[in-house]
Amino acid sequence: MGEKTTVYVGVGSNLGPREKCIDAAVTELRANPRIRVVAVSRVIETEPVGGPPGQGLYLNAAAQIETDLEPVALLGALKRIERLIGRREGPRWGPRPIDLDILLFGPTVLETPELTLPHPRLRERRFVLKPLSEIAPDVRDPVTGLSVRELLAQLDKKA
Ligand code: ATP
Ligand code: CA
Ligand code: CA
Repeated sequence: MGEKTTVYVGVGSNLGPREKCIDAAVTELRANPRIRVVAVSRVIETEPVGGPPGQGLYLNAAAQIETDLEPVALLGALKRIERLIGRREGPRWGPRPIDLDILLFGPTVLETPELTLPHPRLRERRFVLKPLSEIAPDVRDPVTGLSVRELLAQLDKKA
């Protein structure tokens, strides 16, 4: 691998064999020669947020990876894994067997139609920050300068 960046990926599933889907996603990340999986959080069960009513509970986790892929190329690799695990087009925030989001890509701040970094809803989502805080409590959001632990504390204060 060339120049490597530490990246945090959010992993979610609320359709089908959720645990297996998450395991399969991590296995596929490991199988990519351009990606090294450094750490994976535990899996937590969470209520769905937004989207159509009546969908099942989510399992959520976060993974720390290292990669020499550019952000857009990594997004492509994640979308390929989502399709492999059976994700099909559906309503926004609808049920899916797997969802892989780029939460943080090193210190990169990016805003394009196809990719926003850090993930635009990272700061308001407990189901993202909680697993992330397990593997990366001191990593900082390059936009606010706050650590993951601080972002989570800020959210708890608001609730
Ligand atoms: P949310 O973005 O609120 O978590 P979602 O994960 O359900 O919702 P998707 O339908 O999976 O949304 O993704 C819609 C599009 O979001 C993707 O096709 C991708 O181009 C774009 N996108 C923008 N920023 C990111 C990011 N940081 N990680 C993953 N996808 C992103
Ligand atoms: Ca998502
Ligand atoms: Ca997504």
